[in-house]
Amino acid sequence: MSDSFDVIVIGGGPAGYPAAIRAAQNKLSVACIDEWKNRDGSSAFGGTCLNAGCIPSKALLESSELYHRALHEFAAHGVTLDGVGFDVAAMQKRKGGIVRQMTQGILTLFKGAGVTALTGHGRLLADKKVEFTGHDGAKRTLQAKHVVLASGSEPMALRGVAFDGERIVDSWGALEFGEVPKRLCVIGAGVIGLELGSVWRRLGSETVMLEALEQFLPMADSQLSKEAARHFKKQGLDIRLGAKVSSATVKPDGVHVGYTDAKGAQTLVVDRLIVAIGRRPFTKDLLGDGTGVALDERGFVQVDEQCRTAAADVWAVGDCVRGPMLAHKGKEEGVAVADLIAGHYGHVNYKVIPSVIYTAPEIAWVGQTEEQAKAAGRSTKIGSFPFAASGRAKAMEAGAGFCKVVADAGTDEILGIHIIGPMAGELIAEAVLAMEYSASSEDLQRTIHAHPTLSEAVHEAALAADKRAIDIPNR
Ligand code: FAD
Ligand code: AMP
Repeated sequence: MSDSFDVIVIGGGPAGYPAAIRAAQNKLSVACIDEWKNRDGSSAFGGTCLNAGCIPSKALLESSELYHRALHEFAAHGVTLDGVGFDVAAMQKRKGGIVRQMTQGILTLFKGAGVTALTGHGRLLADKKVEFTGHDGAKRTLQAKHVVLASGSEPMALRGVAFDGERIVDSWGALEFGEVPKRLCVIGAGVIGLELGSVWRRLGSETVMLEALEQFLPMADSQLSKEAARHFKKQGLDIRLGAKVSSATVKPDGVHVGYTDAKGAQTLVVDRLIVAIGRRPFTKDLLGDGTGVALDERGFVQVDEQCRTAAADVWAVGDCVRGPMLAHKGKEEGVAVADLIAGHYGHVNYKVIPSVIYTAPEIAWVGQTEEQAKAAGRSTKIGSFPFAASGRAKAMEAGAGFCKVVADAGTDEILGIHIIGPMAGELIAEAVLAMEYSASSEDLQRTIHAHPTLSEAVHEAALAADKRAIDIPNR
């Protein structure tokens, strides 16, 4: 095997592996190095997303939601069941199978594209040399014309709360439980905390979520946050805001979680504790001496708008650089960088990155919230449409939530679209496309949406922005 490549990508997660594939499509010689090791010691490409994040969480969310629906919704459809049960081991096995298929699929894609897959540690040295240490400990020095750093992120730990991998776990540990904890606490009611809390709550855990902030989901449009809080409360998620956790101690009767809220010091005793307080960039042993790559004060690799680091021909993408820690953001950066390296056009439109929370109801948005648009001095017009008025949503027994369009009152440009309701994560794709093309609300209004579909809610919300909705009264 050659030790010299046009491009070496360090990290094979959703930012790194697409960069490698696109670079190979661009007729460049490419190696992708990844050091991920599963609990059983096996190596796998796909990074956090495929092995311990997006994919396994969605597999368990789907299984637990099916159980929840069987318990609470099937009767409304006239479907009767003679007792409903679940098997955590079977759910975990299914999840593991999906993860294996997806991660092995990357190796097949690499083979097809001609990417050299290297399992082990990559360390950037000066002059675009890369020291590769295989999992067997053997070292080789590789030479690249371009290096793409895609080393990702890791869960943040909380001072005073030590992970033990058993009772006190991070998000990966929370996806591996072999049984449903009777009493569960999740620290952090952010995106990851809510998804993990939902999985185990649906399967029966008494779930308390402790969130330091006073405001629930502050990054979402406030109408969405309010609606979400209402549904989560109904589902039995006990979300305590303004609750700052400072300690956790494992004792014979459970994990004692110490926190302070407006009433003072509190203690909660649970069987398992999930710490989901956010993630930080992972750059351990990534950079040797004299690389010229700079990190910022929070540990992110410093890059410009086009993901160039301070070192010539060294690029960085995904969770290890600024911007939202999302798989699709990293993927677009990886692809754009691979195109730029090949001398083609490459660009990421950071203004239209969708966010999705895979709870029930699902929550998704793109662009500015109503509050952000107003704070930016825009005069806005708002159109909302409730799923309760959607025939398809009613047929699905999924009439909760709404779609909200925020448009500029003067130019009619769509500034943001916010959805809480069935398949919000799928529906948002239309909003992203509309905003990518700088659509006006009239563009959406004049676009035919099939009937009866959930997407009609987006159509009607756009019409409502001009008080021209057909299927709801206009106010
Ligand atoms: P990573 O996926 O972290 O991959 C980096 C890879 O590089 C890893 O395999 C790592 O082992 C390897 N590596 C690091 N340093 C080196 C080195 N020096 N040498 C060799 N290899 C190295 N995002 C979404 O968009 N949608 C979701 O639904 C979603 N759900 C999530 C659920 C959970 C529970 C979690 C934890 C995260 C979720 N995310 C989701 C976030 C998403 O997983 C990350 O944004 C994404 O994985 C970042 O991709 P990345 O390629 O930058 O980094
Ligand atoms: P996210 O950034 O979406 O992953 O969410 C992480 C959440 O954890 C944020 O809403 C933080 O406010 C919250 N958080 C961070 N530290 C603490 C803490 N000590 N106690 C409770 N919540 C916390």
